[in-house]
Amino acid sequence: DQTVWVLGAGQLGNMLQHAAYPLGVKVTPVDIDADIPPVLGENDVVTAEREQWPETPVTNVLAAHKNFANQNFFATIADRFKQKSLLDSLNLASAPWQLVEENTTENQLHAKLGDRVLLKRRTGGYDGRGQHWLKQAESSTIPDDWHNNAIAEQAINFDEEISLVGMRDKNGQCYFYPLALNLHQDGILTATVAPLPRLDKYQAIAEKMLTTLMEAVEYVGVMAMECFRVGDQILINEIAPRVHNSGHWTQAGCNISQFESHVRCVTGLPMIQPSVRNTNFMINLIGCELDAQWLAVEGSELFWYQKSVRAGRKVGHINFSKTGKKNIETALDQMQPLLPERYVQTIAWLKNELL
Ligand code: ATP
Ligand code: MG
Ligand code: MG
Repeated sequence: DQTVWVLGAGQLGNMLQHAAYPLGVKVTPVDIDADIPPVLGENDVVTAEREQWPETPVTNVLAAHKNFANQNFFATIADRFKQKSLLDSLNLASAPWQLVEENTTENQLHAKLGDRVLLKRRTGGYDGRGQHWLKQAESSTIPDDWHNNAIAEQAINFDEEISLVGMRDKNGQCYFYPLALNLHQDGILTATVAPLPRLDKYQAIAEKMLTTLMEAVEYVGVMAMECFRVGDQILINEIAPRVHNSGHWTQAGCNISQFESHVRCVTGLPMIQPSVRNTNFMINLIGCELDAQWLAVEGSELFWYQKSVRAGRKVGHINFSKTGKKNIETALDQMQPLLPERYVQTIAWLKNELL
């Protein structure tokens, strides 16, 4: 009898649990702030749905278990300085960067990285929080407490943002989903499309990059690589050592979702190459109230996270797995009036990519 404990009780843990049920695997997400830590069995497995965590009674107990998958890797990824240093050491291309130290000046950063520089907090940032733009033309300055706490990246004029979700099993075999195309609005992911035939030619190079990284750290489970496509070049934006929002489409579009893949890999169950059906797109529900009418849209697959709704907060997503432009167009036309005004752009982007 084995339990997979998930450090963190948000939507990712929940979707891991949901995917594991038909496999006969028990997954239990744990709220890190719970008063009473769980009692772990020797053969249990621990995984995490977040990159970083404070020390609490719960996280101390989970972190002490010998079967915490990829435990040491989390600290590397959670600190952008360590993450970028690792990518550099493996010769994996990413945006040119440097550390923001005590004496680092705006002029130095512009001289080295160009007239637009993006400061990113070393730890804690997500959904575009923890970023600060330095624009030479506007003489913007480094905020005081960002010295020693941030890295600086060159602004990349990317053609588009794509991501690769892959997994490595306990035998060291790697598997991949097709590249996904992502739309970010205000620094937060709003829509994903996969697969897209025009991205096929980048699949092999992206797989090689993620394989290099997963092998270097002997990773087991699902890892996501967010990238910028600049012409024919692929630059890594950032790495997530977990299931990822840009892989949610796999729930509808694959026989084995990213959540099931992660559970299979960390528990040592057999893994096979997932197969992909149809054209898939996912719309993130951000800061909107639950609307039962979403369920009436042809082919919609809602996953609602049961969180309290706040502006800018991801509270659910809807997947569509479809064939035929007419079917896709009908679904998008039905969705548009059921979403807040700002989704007009999201739907237009999806139509532009898919029709
Ligand atoms: P996530 O929610 O994906 O974890 P995050 O807060 O960790 O997001 P990043 O993924 O580093 O932040 O950046 C968020 C978005 O900001 C990117 O998806 C991209 O649109 C933009 N961005 C990040 N780095 C750069 C860069 N060097 N040049 C231009 N745009 C960038
Ligand atoms: Mg991030
Ligand atoms: Mg990101």
